[in-house]
Amino acid sequence: MQNTSLSKEDKTDQRALNKFFLDELRDVYGAEKMLTKALPELEKAATSPDLAMAFADHLQVTEKQIGRLEQVFQMLGENPEAKKCEGMEGLIKEGQTMMKDTEAGTTTRDMALIVSAQKVEHYEIAAYGSLRQVARTIGKPELSQLLEETLQEEKETDMLLSNLADMMINLQANQTAKE
Ligand code: FE
Ligand code: FE
Repeated sequence: MQNTSLSKEDKTDQRALNKFFLDELRDVYGAEKMLTKALPELEKAATSPDLAMAFADHLQVTEKQIGRLEQVFQMLGENPEAKKCEGMEGLIKEGQTMMKDTEAGTTTRDMALIVSAQKVEHYEIAAYGSLRQVARTIGKPELSQLLEETLQEEKETDMLLSNLADMMINLQANQTAKE
């Protein structure tokens, strides 16, 4: 027969895993908050109106995701506290350097913005993908479901950015062909 009671080590491990989950939630919460400050900058730096609109839209989505994380904290009976996310900090910094290194009003600038934004989305996809997994592991499928919703939104944004990049490359190719 299977022993269903947890040993002392298992219980300690369970506690550690719960704490890890909470820490990671705070990390991604900090990341999303940081992003709400960076997205308006990206919007301003974009030349293509479609790209600028994509950043404006994603700001709204990001605010919704912050609300969703607050719901997760609430369901855990915890205060929503943001931790400084070093990964997001680095990605935003890199994006700012890319902006300095490219000229405003050029396709190259827009491509740099797309690359930088896609790196952010991939980071978020990794973060929510694993958090969703941890939530399931610690027996919280309802939280896993909420995190899954955000994960899907990040994937959609990534796809949208890929499409915008394709559009720009085609536009550029057509212009070159005409010259
Ligand atoms: Fe997000
Ligand atoms: Fe995102």
